[in-house]
Amino acid sequence: MEAVAVAAEARERLRASFASGRTRPAAWRAAQLRGLLRMAAEMEAEICAALRADLAKPRTESYVHEISLVTSSCKFALNNLKKWMEPKKVPGGLLTFPSTARVTPEPLGVVLVVSAWNYPFLLAIDPVIGAIAAGNAVLLKPSEIAPATSSLLADLLPRYVDSSCIKVVEGGVAETTALLEQKWDKIFYTGNSKVGRIVMSFAAKHLTPVVLELGGKCPVVVDSNVDLHVATKRIAAGKWGCNNGQACISPDYIITTKSFAPKLLDSLKKVLNKFYGKDPLRSEDLSRIVNSNHFNRLKALMDEEMVSDKIVFGGQSDEQKIAPTLLLDAPLDSAIMKEEIFGPLLPIITVDKIHESFALINSMTKPLAAYLFSKDSKLKRQFERNVSAGGMVFNDTGIHLTNQNLPFGGVGESGMGAYHGTFSFDAFTHRKAVLDRSFPGEAKARYPPYTRGKLKI
Ligand code: NAD
Repeated sequence: MEAVAVAAEARERLRASFASGRTRPAAWRAAQLRGLLRMAAEMEAEICAALRADLAKPRTESYVHEISLVTSSCKFALNNLKKWMEPKKVPGGLLTFPSTARVTPEPLGVVLVVSAWNYPFLLAIDPVIGAIAAGNAVLLKPSEIAPATSSLLADLLPRYVDSSCIKVVEGGVAETTALLEQKWDKIFYTGNSKVGRIVMSFAAKHLTPVVLELGGKCPVVVDSNVDLHVATKRIAAGKWGCNNGQACISPDYIITTKSFAPKLLDSLKKVLNKFYGKDPLRSEDLSRIVNSNHFNRLKALMDEEMVSDKIVFGGQSDEQKIAPTLLLDAPLDSAIMKEEIFGPLLPIITVDKIHESFALINSMTKPLAAYLFSKDSKLKRQFERNVSAGGMVFNDTGIHLTNQNLPFGGVGESGMGAYHGTFSFDAFTHRKAVLDRSFPGEAKARYPPYTRGKLKI
């Protein structure tokens, strides 16, 4: 069947299932969430194998960064489901006296989730958890750039959840385009901002709301007032320990002062040698670059004429992997400082005073995450007030995503809308205003004729 027919049929079936009311009861939602929990537990080895096939992702990373996060999202949703689903009473209001009022959460309907390749299990299932918890029917389109995980999801989901209400359609641009042409009640897209614009223009045709989880250049500011060893370990873990830098909230570049840069560089080199040894290309603990397009893109960033002599560590590559690579003072107009890197290259930009970092970050598009390492609480407050970013972490990188009480999402070019924890439920829920009046309590002035006597003016 051609892509458009597949998309239309899948959407129609989901619409019929949703209209039957099947997805609404708490018991259905909980059963699906428990199904996902079982899938994560029983299929751990298969999921890790798919992630290894797609990205050579180390098993520890696969478990900690993908499977365990899915598990914790499911448990959080299960524990809070009843509370989230309850209508919230609000004051009745004088003008409508006597009345009661409440905000009633209702599912949006049939939603489309389009996910990305870099955390292909987590980024597919995590939004689906929110969509199910909120009582929607869901169509998931995993990324074709991670084909082993995509086909595993297509195989596993019907075995663990209700396939009349939760479907997987695999495919690339043609299949996604066919899906985007359909009318959905919400589109949740994770990926780059160029495709984000395409998604939004399709959504506009049907006035469909979107969540766009995009990327950007996540800065790390390193002040001299730090525990340097801990700081460099945490920067390295957030960069190379996250899919070899192919993560949306990985540090993209560092800003530090000219005077502190030599110490920071020295510490980073020591940590990298300890983590990945003398021959990082052979390290089992480093993911590979996902495909030749991305490999060539990253090589071109390193090889640009004004950048190639700025490499101060690393730079090695074989046909699949690129080693952790540090660059000192790559020009700000080079491609590596203009585009999101999304790989193992880490430029360090030096400034005279650490406060100059604020203007430098704000001169670029708003990042998905911004990091500051410092013991100086005044500097932290100033950073929080002056730097705009989807999320912010002091003295670590990336870990805010594990806190279910924090919204995860971008701002400006790094995206719109958010999810995780309660925010996932909210992303897929309409909050319906309900006002309930009784018959007594008529105000004569409300009805024509509007005579002076009635209004007393
Ligand atoms: P990708 O290539 O997997 O694309 C994402 C999805 O878009 C896929 O399902 C793909 O089929 C679809 N797609 C691609 N081209 C399309 C087109 N022309 N029309 C319609 N659909 C299309 O992933 P990517 O974009 O390379 O992902 C990397 C980007 O995603 C980075 O910018 C990264 O920062 C961002 N990202 C953001 C988050 C987040 O949570 N905010 C998470 C991961 C990645």
